[in-house]
Amino acid sequence: MFEQLGLIGCGLMGGSFALALKRAKLVKRVVGYSKSPSTTERARQLGVIDVAAPSALLAVSGADIVLLAVPVAASEATFKAIRHGISADTLVMDVGSTKGDVIEAARNGLQKQFASFVPAHPIAGKEVSGIEHAEASLFTGRQVVLTPVKTTLRSNVQRASQVWSGIGANVVTMTHEEHDAAFAAVSHLPHLLAFAYTNALIGQPQGDRFLSLAGPGFRDFSRIAASDPVMWRDVLLANREQVLQQSQAFRKALDDLETLMTAGDLQGLEQSIAAASKARAAWRPNSSTDALAQQDS
Ligand code: NAP
Repeated sequence: MFEQLGLIGCGLMGGSFALALKRAKLVKRVVGYSKSPSTTERARQLGVIDVAAPSALLAVSGADIVLLAVPVAASEATFKAIRHGISADTLVMDVGSTKGDVIEAARNGLQKQFASFVPAHPIAGKEVSGIEHAEASLFTGRQVVLTPVKTTLRSNVQRASQVWSGIGANVVTMTHEEHDAAFAAVSHLPHLLAFAYTNALIGQPQGDRFLSLAGPGFRDFSRIAASDPVMWRDVLLANREQVLQQSQAFRKALDDLETLMTAGDLQGLEQSIAAASKARAAWRPNSSTDALAQQDS
């Protein structure tokens, strides 16, 4: 049981974490701070936080657990702002969709307190953002990836693991390199493609007409194009090396398919589609994947 959660970023993820901790009776009090005072106040009105703090530093003062749930590009400034409120006993975590950049931000921002920081990425979310959509069960049955580094306090890794398990998540641990490479392939590239495809569609003179005729294929392929622009701008830039590498592999696969089509290569085209179809049919969702309801960012 924690005495006080210091929550920076009272949005979908941060709000859901606070509600989950409260529901599991893992925290006595939540003190929150968000960039806009109106967001912090709304979080208080909704009962997600108990006290609205006027600054990030004041939100973490006296907290034994701290969660950063801000866009990843805001991480370093936020770590710097809270540094003097963090003690050796504080468990500090984030929820960012990319890990290498957030770890660097924490190293620069937290300095001597860097060892207290346990990088975390819950594989759960929604296309909609904001405190209004926060829910206590968001992380139930979902995976949470922890990416500690050599200097991370082992005791904090253990506490982080316990707290996520305590709210019903399944904890997996890996290096941040492995995390960023894997999520570039299975999450960040699909988002990039969904944005590109949707832009290509609406950029055509008849785009609106085509869109009005769209069915399940469009719905399934483009669902994640409705995601939050700020969050995804940050994720794509933060993990750009890995995402661009995946994008090149995708471009090659697309080129290969186009070549087969141009040549009218019936057999080649069928073989290529069959390989993809077999792989997709054999894929089994892990506990973090739940058809349409959750976003795997
Ligand atoms: P969100 O609902 O938009 O919440 C973000 C919150 O951060 C907002 O309340 C915003 O406050 C606040 N904020 C922004 N800049 C800040 C700053 N400099 N200082 C303090 N507060 C600041 O977004 P979210 O979906 O919860 O995403 C938060 C993090 O979760 C991101 O790093 C994202 O990569 C990660 N994540 C998201 C998902 C997902 O599906 N959404 C999944 C996994 C991980 P204002 O309202 O005042 O602007």
